[in-house]
Amino acid sequence: MIDIVRQLKINPPPMQKKIDILISSAEIQKRVETLAAQIEKDYHGKELTVVGVLKGAFIFMADLVRHIQTPMTCDFLRVSSYEKDKSLGVVRMDFDLTQPITGKDVLLIEDIVDTGSTLTYLLKHMGTKNPSSLRVCSLLYKEMGSGIRDKIDYLGFTVPSRYVIGYGLDSEGVYRSLPYIGAFK
Ligand code: 5GP
Repeated sequence: MIDIVRQLKINPPPMQKKIDILISSAEIQKRVETLAAQIEKDYHGKELTVVGVLKGAFIFMADLVRHIQTPMTCDFLRVSSYEKDKSLGVVRMDFDLTQPITGKDVLLIEDIVDTGSTLTYLLKHMGTKNPSSLRVCSLLYKEMGSGIRDKIDYLGFTVPSRYVIGYGLDSEGVYRSLPYIGAFK
């Protein structure tokens, strides 16, 4: 009992912050289905290697791949560039792919493209592994971000220049499980 009280004093529960819903769960699901149909059409007769960028893309990727009939393998890598909701400006590879992608048709799944540093880093990194093709699918693109919109082949939504959370995206590790995309009021 004393231990619980002590723990609560050290780690008080997070304050409930008010959130604006920017994109509802229904809108996301509709868009995911449209993107999946487009991807399936473009990769008809091929085999896909889908690569998710952790942690933010895990929910988007899980929903997207379940609407794609094209045969595929799935892999993940993890990079980080944010700390306490602020960009550090340097991209760090936390862990890389587990399977070679040489000669494969690779589709990279991102949660959000903001300044574009992460995507630029990943395209360069994965390009050195000589895939047969490399395309990008991002759930979100931040308006006023980077101007590398043209590197995204499949885009879910454009969002305003606010820190967004939900549907895989976090704020200091929390809020990933929200079914919608939101921003703090
Ligand atoms: P970039 O390198 O394009 O500036 O940022 C890409 C990465 O930063 C994303 O994959 C994501 O992890 C994080 N990020 C950028 N903007 C946001 C945001 O508004 N909300 C959250 N949760 N993460 C973001």
